[in-house]
Amino acid sequence: MAEIFNVADIFGENVFNDSVMQTRLPKKVYKKLHEAMEEGRDLDLETADVIAHEMKEWAIEKGATHYTHWFQPLTGFTAEKHDSFITAPMENGKVLMSFSGKELIKGEPDASSFPSGGLRATFEARGYTAWDCTSPAFVRQDAAGATLCIPTAFCSYTGESLDQKTPLLRSMEVINEQALRLLRLFGNETSTRVTPSVGVEQEYFIIDREKYLQRKDLIFAGRTLFGAMPPKGQEMDDHYFGAIRQRIAAYMSDVNKELWKLGVSAKTQHNEVAPAQHELAPIYAECNVAVDHNQLVMETLKKVAGRHGLHCLLHEKPFAGVNGSGKHDNWSLTTDDGINLLEPGETPHENIQFLLILTCILRAVDKHATLLRASAANVGNDHRLGADEAPPAILSVFLGEQLEDVIEQLVSTGSATHSLTGSKLETGVKTLPDFMKDATDRNRTSPFAFTGNKFEFRMVGSQDTVAQANVVLNTIVAEAFSEACDVLEKADDFELAVHNLIKKYAIEHQRIIFNGNGYSEEWVKEAEKRGLPNIKSMVEAVPAYIEPENVRMFEKFGVFTKAELESRVEIEYETYAKTINIEARSMIDIAGKHIIPAVIKYTTVLANSLSAVQAACEEADTSVQKELLIETSALLSDTKVALAHLTDVANKASAMPQGPEQANYYHAEVTPAMEALRRPVDELEMIVSKDMWPMPSYGDLLFEVSAF
Ligand code: ADP
Ligand code: MG
Repeated sequence: MAEIFNVADIFGENVFNDSVMQTRLPKKVYKKLHEAMEEGRDLDLETADVIAHEMKEWAIEKGATHYTHWFQPLTGFTAEKHDSFITAPMENGKVLMSFSGKELIKGEPDASSFPSGGLRATFEARGYTAWDCTSPAFVRQDAAGATLCIPTAFCSYTGESLDQKTPLLRSMEVINEQALRLLRLFGNETSTRVTPSVGVEQEYFIIDREKYLQRKDLIFAGRTLFGAMPPKGQEMDDHYFGAIRQRIAAYMSDVNKELWKLGVSAKTQHNEVAPAQHELAPIYAECNVAVDHNQLVMETLKKVAGRHGLHCLLHEKPFAGVNGSGKHDNWSLTTDDGINLLEPGETPHENIQFLLILTCILRAVDKHATLLRASAANVGNDHRLGADEAPPAILSVFLGEQLEDVIEQLVSTGSATHSLTGSKLETGVKTLPDFMKDATDRNRTSPFAFTGNKFEFRMVGSQDTVAQANVVLNTIVAEAFSEACDVLEKADDFELAVHNLIKKYAIEHQRIIFNGNGYSEEWVKEAEKRGLPNIKSMVEAVPAYIEPENVRMFEKFGVFTKAELESRVEIEYETYAKTINIEARSMIDIAGKHIIPAVIKYTTVLANSLSAVQAACEEADTSVQKELLIETSALLSDTKVALAHLTDVANKASAMPQGPEQANYYHAEVTPAMEALRRPVDELEMIVSKDMWPMPSYGDLLFEVSAF
């Protein structure tokens, strides 16, 4: 039975959070830190020294011996460099545990081991990590002991960002500024800060660890590269919300406990559509904290699985023919005095502000659909986006019936007449006042859905960081706000100007709204008519970052420089090429060393059986053996041909210089060659005797765990 514990007792126990700081830090220091956090100011070294000392004492009480600057380089993983608190032994033979303010606020890992996309000249390998004091430090306990982890941003010697965090923090500043500007226009003088709130739903697969270890493809590539569908798939839908099996339940309970200690409020757990697939959602937090938390969620899911004899697959498409995994990035804007700007509100006045914000978001998504698509592009996600799976690669916005109707009226009733009666503003659209808070009509096929008081961006891949998606969202919405403010600040008649702007945006960007079935063939055609881009692969998606108008926007708001964007695109191509290369090499290895030899063994058994039967009885019917031999041999020969072709194109690809051309070659030539090799092998798996097949089947992997 799982250990029983009280959530309130353990929640956040390993986090150096606000209440810990309040009790441990001298009042003056606490106040200074808060000012720094709220105003984005630098901490003076004296203050940092006091904080570092208290943080260290606290961490040592939790068993920590080391500290690390925890950061998110462009590898797609988190990175850390561990340093001990121990300084030189003293004369009495004892050691001193020390940690200075300087060590807290700035680190200097060797930047040359992280991708920089050419930003960092090789002779200047230095990189810096800088404390993000708005994301709390925490102590992580694992096999390596306990470590104080300090969330940091990572940049080059010359200040270019080499990580996910830096642009994210910049984009949060930008949306704060522009959202406040907009709020002031509507008479809000009290809010002083607007922060994106983010809640990340995480999907993942759980399989048996022993079986995992027998699959080289899972070990090397994180997904199955071969595998025939089991007789029972997900068609029965019996798994969804089904009783969570005991073994999984114990695992989830352990995951929750670990996360709660780290202050991550894991909230829901249920089975997803696919067998062995699950989902975890924390309660939303400030954007940068939520991004950090999602990294911790992924780490924890993997780490805890090992303890339960399980393995967690975070890949977007671990199993062909079974639904893949993604992340839902739930996003809204919250003021420091607790107003959610995406809450439709009850009075017409609030409605009109909401409608402007809503149409600004429509505008942002429509104008920068390719950028949002690029932010969700990663190698694994190519199997979801643009394949027949949720969500489609075409970006559209789901608003629900009521809001869509409002937009429709704005567009079709001609002028949205305005009249002031008393102090109340009438919008001229009758149905406005009562928005339903809960959008009942949930549309699971939409990539960007309004769900009551937040938007849900559903394109991000399950193993990807949500940082990029939020950088893009924050920036494009800030741009739309800024453009709206430019118009409204100059207007003589504010109300009229707001009305006109809402109407203008609704008309110009109505094409992005789609409430129907995003999987359907009709939508693909309809979207094409509307001129909406349908970008099916990562290599086609990433150039959006360096389209001139996107570069202009990012530079205008100081989120990315052109050089930073170019470096990111370069890294994306590099990552694509490397990943496909690993997959192709793994297939070549598995097919050549395991599958072909196994099939040959099987044909030998068939041939032996054939001659043995014939020898025993000349008239015996041996047609089954013969047919199987013919069929198997034909597939074996197809396999050999496909293997030779894959080897050939993979060799050509890896000989090419890195860059877009190489990545495109991998996409155009190597991935189809991989598919071509998989086809005959999967057919062979259905024929060859199970005890001869060199690895566990889909059925073994997907249903074994749930059977507990
Ligand atoms: P769904 O609507 O997808 O079924 P939930 O209501 O459980 O799911 O919410 C999903 C995620 O959205 C959770 O992580 C939750 O904390 C987050 N969320 C809820 N409200 C907001 C909000 N206003 N802003 C951002 N995220 C939110
Ligand atoms: Mg959701």
